[in-house]
Amino acid sequence: MKYVGAHVSAAGGVDQAVIRAHELGATAFALFTKNQRQWKAAPLPENVIAAFKANCKKYGYGHGQILPHDSYLINLGHPETEALEKSREAFLDELQRCEQLGIDRLNFHPGSHLNKIEEKACLARIAESINIALDKTSGVIAVIENTAGQGSNLGFRFEQLAAIIEGVEDKSRVGVCIDTCHAFAAGYDLRTPETCKATFADFESIVGFEYLKGMHLNDAKSEFASRVDRHDSLGQGKIGNAPFEFIMKDKRFDGIPMVLETVNPDIWAQEIAWLKSLEK
Ligand SMILES: [Zn+2]
Ligand SMILES: [Zn+2]
Repeated sequence: MKYVGAHVSAAGGVDQAVIRAHELGATAFALFTKNQRQWKAAPLPENVIAAFKANCKKYGYGHGQILPHDSYLINLGHPETEALEKSREAFLDELQRCEQLGIDRLNFHPGSHLNKIEEKACLARIAESINIALDKTSGVIAVIENTAGQGSNLGFRFEQLAAIIEGVEDKSRVGVCIDTCHAFAAGYDLRTPETCKATFADFESIVGFEYLKGMHLNDAKSEFASRVDRHDSLGQGKIGNAPFEFIMKDKRFDGIPMVLETVNPDIWAQEIAWLKSLEK
């Protein structure tokens, strides 16, 4: 069974995001559990937590169908101590929010070396950040997203994702989310069934499908291997339909949240319906 949806707004409270997902005909969704552009947020009120859980139950969203995204400000590989501590604190808060909401996974961008430390040192720092946060929480999987490799962002090569996983002590609580736009921009071709097959064979041998805990389904406005992160609506960008047709027919993508972060929310319901039609 495939779970597909979109990254919906949590305006008015995280409980409202569930209703928005349902209205789209989604079987999965992503959300921010706090303002993604701010460091601090008020704790989730008890009544909002209860309403979120009630809505999930009502509309049938459980484990494997919800993929929260953490704040964009967090850099778990930050080269400077003070900023690293601030990121680690904020990341712990994000994981604790998931714990409170009964969500089993949290999606985040690995981090950036800012040209101040070596790639290897930065990857080790990210793994250490994950270890610290996992130690203080339970039941939530840290899901590392592959990036387009813009600027000094790491995680654009499958080998980098594997290196972070290698440094995480509890392998049962670490995973990855593959964003099709980011992969394409990072130089993994997905434009034909053959290139999809080759890219995911690479993924299988370097990272492994047992670690795949989510997907971001996006076409790309950016060019192949451009290292530029610009999403597009499915089938309307530089990638085309191939990866979405490939993914929806491949059992290895069953049982994980697969969410759109495409540029036109007005057609999300259509995009979701199209994805669902491909599974059959
Ligand atoms: Zn993404
Ligand atoms: Zn992106």
